[in-house]
Amino acid sequence: MQPFPHYPLLWGETPIHPLPRFAEAVGLGECWIKRDDLTGIALGGNKLRKLEYLLGEALSKGCDLLITGGSPQSNHARLTAAVARKAGMDVWLCFAGSNPGVEQGNLLLDKLFGATVHMTGQYGSEALLAAMKELAQQAEQEGRKPYVIPVGGSTPIGDYGYKRAWDEWLRQADKLGLPPMDYLVVPVGTGGTLAGLAAGQALSPAPVQLVGISVWQRASTAHRETLELMRSLLAALGVAEGREGTFSIFDEYIGPKYGVPSVEGIQAIRLLAQTEGILVDPVYTAKALAGVIDLARRGDWRGKRVLFWHTGGTPALFTHAQNLMDEVNKK
Ligand SMILES: *Cc1c(COP(=O)(O)O)cnc(C)c1O
Repeated sequence: MQPFPHYPLLWGETPIHPLPRFAEAVGLGECWIKRDDLTGIALGGNKLRKLEYLLGEALSKGCDLLITGGSPQSNHARLTAAVARKAGMDVWLCFAGSNPGVEQGNLLLDKLFGATVHMTGQYGSEALLAAMKELAQQAEQEGRKPYVIPVGGSTPIGDYGYKRAWDEWLRQADKLGLPPMDYLVVPVGTGGTLAGLAAGQALSPAPVQLVGISVWQRASTAHRETLELMRSLLAALGVAEGREGTFSIFDEYIGPKYGVPSVEGIQAIRLLAQTEGILVDPVYTAKALAGVIDLARRGDWRGKRVLFWHTGGTPALFTHAQNLMDEVNKK
């Protein structure tokens, strides 16, 4: 029995496979990767797991319009636009600020999906949510049935997708006979992905330390917000208070700021590309991978077994082409 309506979007389990050349290059005992960049629709990414449940709820309520937002290069907005179309719905995107910036990467894809873009003049998740709710009221006055999805799709219903993802990887690990992992590493934006995994851990414990690498907020804020998201999800599932997953969050790898590539992140992109032929994105996964590389090389994680959870985002490689080329050409 599923606690929330489900609209299937993924093709099945995402692959898990080892990264032997990468692990050797950085001094890890083993490194495995969970490929949520290959979730199957519109270039993939973690948001599809959340959208399976968010869309499920929207359709069960008879909605005909999805409204969401974020930065103009939001992966979440791109994937919401794609799945709205698949479900026969319209989509309005509320973006931060007034200048959408370069029409490449995710923004280009939003336009291809025919999304209506609203520049809000606002910044921050809460201000954007308020702008979305205002638009939803307008839509209702026009006779539409809108469904508002907060930034990153991080609500208990969305995050439930990552509780299910936790169960999926436990099943896979069992089937493949994987050795126990020391660390499971995932990037942290709004924290919903990590919150879902931590809720999964609370309900089906496995001896792995959950580690989030923040790409946006300081560790204390990210930790508090992720904890709140995990607790709301567990409460929505009717789990008694006190049963929780535990996780730690690093904030040393944010670089200049959210959305701006870091030198270490670009080096991580090149290292994974040149050892394994796999691409990570400059905004989330490269920064998380830079954390793994640093912790392994500093010695704290030397010889350990790490599961790196690839959350997608690769269209942003092209948005940041100039930044990447500048760094590549230096070497
Ligand atoms: C949104 C996103 C994340 C962060 O997920 P949260 O649930 O917001 O923490 C990580 N990686 C990519 C590629 C994303 O698009």
